[in-house]
This record gives sequence, C-alpha cells and structure tokens, in this order.
Amino acid sequence: MQTARQLGFALLLLAAAARAEVTLEAVRALPPLPETFPSDAALDARVDWLQARLAATGDDTERYRTQRLLFDEYYYERQDQAAAAVCRENPPLRLDFAYRERCILASVSEYEAYMPALLSLASEARQSPEKAAAAALLKDVAWRQSQWGDIAGAFENFEAALAIAPADNAELLGEIMMDTATSYIVNGDESYVRRGLALLADARVQMQRALDDPKDSSDKRYLGDKVVLTGFNSGIAYALHLSDYEKALASFAQVADQDSPYREDALVFAALSAAELGRFEAARAYLARSESEKGDASLSGPVAQQYLQCYRQITARRWDRGHPVDACLALKPETSLEVQLDVFKRLSESDDAATARAGLIGLKRLLVEKVEPQLRRRASGAASNAELMRLQRESDLKSVVLKQQEALQRERDETNAQRQNFFIALSLLLLMAALLAATRLRAKKRLAEQYEQLSLADALTHLGNRRYLEQHIGRELSLLNRMRHEDPAVSLGIYLFDIDHFKSVNDRFGHAAGDEVLVEMSRRIKVATRGADLLVRWGGEEFLLVARVDNGARCAQIADRILRAVNETPFEISGHGPLAVTCTIGAVTCPFIEGDNTPIWNELVGIADQALYLGKSGGRNRWLIVDNVRVAAAEDVGALLAQPLQQAVDAGLVSLRTS
Ligand code: GH3
Ligand code: MG
Ligand code: MG
Repeated sequence: MQTARQLGFALLLLAAAARAEVTLEAVRALPPLPETFPSDAALDARVDWLQARLAATGDDTERYRTQRLLFDEYYYERQDQAAAAVCRENPPLRLDFAYRERCILASVSEYEAYMPALLSLASEARQSPEKAAAAALLKDVAWRQSQWGDIAGAFENFEAALAIAPADNAELLGEIMMDTATSYIVNGDESYVRRGLALLADARVQMQRALDDPKDSSDKRYLGDKVVLTGFNSGIAYALHLSDYEKALASFAQVADQDSPYREDALVFAALSAAELGRFEAARAYLARSESEKGDASLSGPVAQQYLQCYRQITARRWDRGHPVDACLALKPETSLEVQLDVFKRLSESDDAATARAGLIGLKRLLVEKVEPQLRRRASGAASNAELMRLQRESDLKSVVLKQQEALQRERDETNAQRQNFFIALSLLLLMAALLAATRLRAKKRLAEQYEQLSLADALTHLGNRRYLEQHIGRELSLLNRMRHEDPAVSLGIYLFDIDHFKSVNDRFGHAAGDEVLVEMSRRIKVATRGADLLVRWGGEEFLLVARVDNGARCAQIADRILRAVNETPFEISGHGPLAVTCTIGAVTCPFIEGDNTPIWNELVGIADQALYLGKSGGRNRWLIVDNVRVAAAEDVGALLAQPLQQAVDAGLVSLRTS
C-alpha cells in the first residue's frame, strides 16, 4: 500500500508543472554563482547562503537555478526528506530530466517503486531533444538494474545509452563505457571480465579526449580522476577476477604514481599483487608507501580503510605466516560483496587451519545474511540470465570446492558434520555469487555513500532515526531564533507520541503484525504532517515530530491531526482484519531563549516525555501540550525538569493544554 502511494507520488512528479516563463536554456545561460558561495563550508552554511540568495532575487530563472542547487545540496548530503521538499516547492521543468530523476529518487527509496518511474522518465527523455540527458538517465537506470540483479535489463539500457549519447560528448560516452565495463567485470565469467577490460580501455580513451579538449567545460580534476579510475578498475579486474597479478601490478603501479583519490588503494593492491608474484621486497615497499598515504584519499571512508587494512595483512602473511588477519574478520557490513567474497576466499585458502576456518565461516555468514535474501528477491527477474551463468560457473565451482576439501582434510579438531556444513555453504555461496551482480569496488559518489545514509534512516519505517534528527535539529533551532526576531509568535512544536497498548498488539497478533502497525502508523503521520517538518522514529513505538508553528492554536491543530490520523480509521493488518489503534501525544513549544538553543534540546524532549507520561496516565488517546515554559536561560530548563510536571504547572512555571 505504501509502495503504491509512493509510486503515485513519483508519477505526480513526472507530470511536473511546466513554467512558461523559465526555460532550461535560460537556466543554462546563467553566469556561474558568485565566488562568495561558500562551496567548501558545511552544509548549513551552503544552504543558508542559497536561501539568502533566494530571498533576495525576484528573477524566476535565477530562483529556479538556486532552488535546484539547494536541492542538490540536500540530495548529495543524503537528506532525502529535505531534498524532496524542495522538489515539491519547486517542481522541475519538463525537460530538466536530471533534476526530475533526482526528485524521484529523493522521494521514493524502494527499487520496485522508483524503477517504473525512472523507466517511464527515460522513455520520455528519449523522445525529447535532450539526447545527452536521456543517455545519462539510461546509464543510471542500467546501473541500478545491474545492482539489483536485472543483468539483462541493465545491458539493454547500457546499449541504448551508448546508442543515443551524442558522439561529441566524450565524457558521457566514457562514463557509460565505464559503468558497462564494471557490470561485465563483477557479473561475469572470464570472457565477460575480458570484455569489461576492453571497454575500460575504450572508456579511458574517451575520458582522455574530454580531458584534452580545451572546449570541454567539465571539471578537469574530476575528469583526470576518472582516467585514473579506469586504470584502477582494470587492476581490480586482473587481481580479484582473473588472478593475473602481473597485469594487475602493472595497472596498480601506474595508478600509484599519479595523484588521485585512488593512490592508497592502488598501493595496497600493488603490494598484494607483488606478494602473489613472490616479489616480497617490492611488496614491502608498496606497503610502506601505502602507510604514508593512509586516510589521505578523499574517497576512503571507514569502510575502505578497514578492507585496505585487511589486504595489508593478507599481503604480509605471504612472508610472515603467523601475521594476524584480524582486520579481515572485522570488515564493515557495508563492504561490497566483491571485496568480501575475495577476502574470505583468500582466508579460506590459507594453510593455517584456524584462518581457513574463519574464512569459511565468513563465506557462510555472507551466504546467510546477504546472498540468500538477495537471491530470493531477485529470483524472478534474473532467471534466464542466472541459469546461463550458473552453467558457466559450475565447472569452476567444482575445482574450488575440491581444493577446499583437501585443505580442510588436514584439520583435526573439526567434526565431520561441521565440515560437511561448510562445504555445502561454500558450494551454495559460490553458486549464488555467480548469479549476483556484486557491487563494484568504487561506486559513484552517491552510490558509495548510500550505505552511510542507512544509518540515518530507520530500516522498518524508512523515517529518519535519532541520529538524523540530531544532525538537523541545531539548524532548525538557530533558524527559529532568527525568524523570531521578525515574528515573535513563531515557535517550534516538539511532539513525542507513543502507540497505546502496543505491546498487546504484538502479544495478540505477533511481532510481524506489530511491525505492520508501525509502518502504517508512520505512513499516516507522514501524510498528516508537512514535508518540511522533521519526523523521526524515536525508538520502539515512539515517534518524534518537530514542526514549525506560528501560533498556539496551530500547535494544537497539529496534535489533533495526528490523533485523528491514527484513531479515525482502523488499521488493516494482513490476515487480521481491521484493528483500532490510538496513540498519546506529549508536546512542548520551544521557549524563547537567546543564542544557541541546541543545548536545551534534550531537555525539551524530556518535557514532552513528561507530558506524554501524564497523557498516558490520564487515559491515553489524547494530547497534552506544555506551553509558556517560562525560563530565563537554558540552564533553568533542567531545574524545571527536576520536578514533576504537574508541580511546575501548579507553580505557574508552565501551562498545560489538553485535548
Ligand atoms: P502504553 O500504552 O503505555 O504505551 O503501552 P505499550 O504496550 O504501548 O508500551 P510498552 O512500552 O509496554 O510496550 C512497547 C512494546 O513495543 C514493547 C516492544 O516489544 C514493542 N516494540 C518495540 N519496538 C518494536 C518493533 O520494532 N516492532 C514490534 N513489532 N514491536 C516493537
Ligand atoms: Mg506504547
Ligand atoms: Mg513506549
């Protein structure tokens, strides 16, 4: 149901309003932003700058461009809720396909929901004169398909993208080739990998052409990095997929000599390749160089740092058999499947029984946690292609399994039954791995960072979580303070709400039904509140909403709206019929305190929590709002909290309204 609604919304975006007065050409013809734009500053500062510019300009074209930039700021910082709100306020122009695509992706996070919208956008783009935009869009669609496991669909769209990309757009051609190549390399058997390598060479030629073209206005630094990346990806194909370490070393050595974000990675993989070739002196030298580059590269986040450390250890084991591999046993869960598979395979081939076992356990865990669920999800879409690849991989599989069997034979302390389990797990894993589109090592910025975004979102309801709120609340509070200078009535309402007797839903209908209630609950609240409000899952069955309110009556209206959204119509829970659900809300309006409000944030939530508690004991299915928190300074809020709320009411320190 949620998906259908989101899809409806995405389609609405597709039919974006065209504004007669603004054209894409006029937007493109605008001069660059003035240099006062703080492009290196934090997000807040950039957003503030853009908003100030927006407030100062009356020109629609300039406004459109600025809103679009504002959108990008949020979008690339993975703040999809805020980004989607910008789209709603500033619908993209019909021909602005790149913006339309991002608006869809910011509003809908599930593949099944956004993919039809992207596909229909792509077919619209192909009919339009915007061929480069259409090709870029198809490339993106194809990439997402390959990530999902729809390999056949992906290659079809990569080809379509290549066919319509303007021949003089070398950078775009290069990017399409590079993504196609990566899909070949991570999905295929040896012949696919070789086709991928050939394509990488073509991509390099295109990127270099764009780099050398004085008329090409793209960021040269970025283009230069892309040229280097083609070399790096070739090295990965040789090292991780073909075990051709001679060629891998040549590629990595070249990358390591250039200034790029891939230098540290290249040095580590050069060390690995040299060690595989038995050239330990060279390997040690690469390792030492990689240490001095550590963490410098702009692209290497904690995920990459962890697996690079692991590869350093695997390399050192070549000459020091007892070298620990603890970093490999602590890979971050977000590490790409391509890397995890390679690491665990290397560990499982170790002649030290304990390490080999750790590798096998890692493979098995990968199978259970990652591969199986993905495979189940993809089974229908990728059937014919998967069948093909399964046949191709089967012969490889047998030899790998035999080798593992020999190695494990030497292991004394394992029981036969356990060993058997490992073999089964390993065979299944390799079989399934062959069916999967593994993620590429170096994804595009957005893709690479999507995982991080996960930790800001609640997996069940897709709302933001506490961390998300903590990242946003400071800005909201300081903005409020500024607005208050002009209009003292403006305030923030902080609403904490909790489902009534939720435990009994779980007890009576099971945990899955409880989860459904939570999802439906968040869907209803989202509908009942504004996109610009901050709504997060606070924990368990508690949610927190921060909404700007311009007077006391509005504050109560919002609380009413939430209550009604929940209690007016029963919840439809699959297999259980309609279920009456209510919730209780405790809210507080933000007191006016000069300066930085952030320190009192937690205290305010504490007051809302007390109000919620009073509401629960007063019979539930109601709201309680604490107003007029009369404190002179932030420190005093803490003192207020030290007493029961009712006492503070009686003492006239706060007032209380209830439904
Ligand atoms: P009250 O009206 O006083 O709030 O009663 P309650 O039963 O809602 O409150 P209580 O805090 O006793 O129970 C909350 C329950 O929520 C307990 C916990 O198992 C359940 N819960 C927390 N998170 C989840 C979740 O993600 N899914 C499901 N299904 N249940 C959850
Ligand atoms: Mg509850
Ligand atoms: Mg609770």
